[in-house]
Amino acid sequence: MTENRPASGKPEVGLPAGRRPLVAANWKMNKTNADAEEFMREFLPAAEGIAADVDVVVCPPFTALRAVAELARDSRVRVGAQNMHEEDSGAFTGEVSAPMLLELGVEAVVLGHSERRQYFGETDAALARKVPKALDAGLLPILCVGETEQEREAGETERKLRHQVQSDLAAVDVARLPDVVIAYEPIWAIGTGKTATAEQAQAAIGFVRALVSDRDGGVARAVRVLYGGSVDAGNAAELMALEDVDGALVGGASLSPDSFLSIAAAARP
Ligand code: PEP
Repeated sequence: MTENRPASGKPEVGLPAGRRPLVAANWKMNKTNADAEEFMREFLPAAEGIAADVDVVVCPPFTALRAVAELARDSRVRVGAQNMHEEDSGAFTGEVSAPMLLELGVEAVVLGHSERRQYFGETDAALARKVPKALDAGLLPILCVGETEQEREAGETERKLRHQVQSDLAAVDVARLPDVVIAYEPIWAIGTGKTATAEQAQAAIGFVRALVSDRDGGVARAVRVLYGGSVDAGNAAELMALEDVDGALVGGASLSPDSFLSIAAAARP
């Protein structure tokens, strides 16, 4: 595995990471700034005990990004945003741009989370602009894809994943594809306590990797694909041990330092 560690001790963003495991916390619309600081004060010292080969990313709401990034500055924890607009500035009320995130010390961004797609009209066309923009800006994009329960039951999981992966990554140059992290998140498993079985997760994530392989086989072996959907301290080890699974995107179970630590500790290079 490649060690992409600059002098700061943090893994460099945007370079091929040799499939270092990555565990990311998506806090969604949870935690005030004060709550976020409290989490970080407890989490950061303990996070130093997580295996050095594991990338750890915390994605707070926008309002807590500055404080969390400042607290995490000299640690091994990276900070991510939960969304980003593809333009640098302009008349886009309520939106936040890559330069705004970078100035705060943000290094990653979750894009295309199913809640953004479902409730806020996030489209594949917009994602096809956002992913290359994040890469160009030096942010690590964590692109979420996944099927609904109805789509799974109708046997349409692969069609949905093919559509999302192909559309959302269409404008990413093949040489930059290893710098994208893809999170397979079956929508029926998000926040429901209904985790995908090991077989379902491996099949879908293996399929996502095969889709990348349609662009380039070598790149497909390098790109990191995470599982997300009701990951907790009890199921993380089994899911992250699967052949094609390179880590986890964690919602509910990332809100407590103890449970997020247990999940991160289960990641193995
Ligand atoms: C998520 O928000 O990306 C997620 C996977 O949530 P949860 O872990 O709560 O299912």
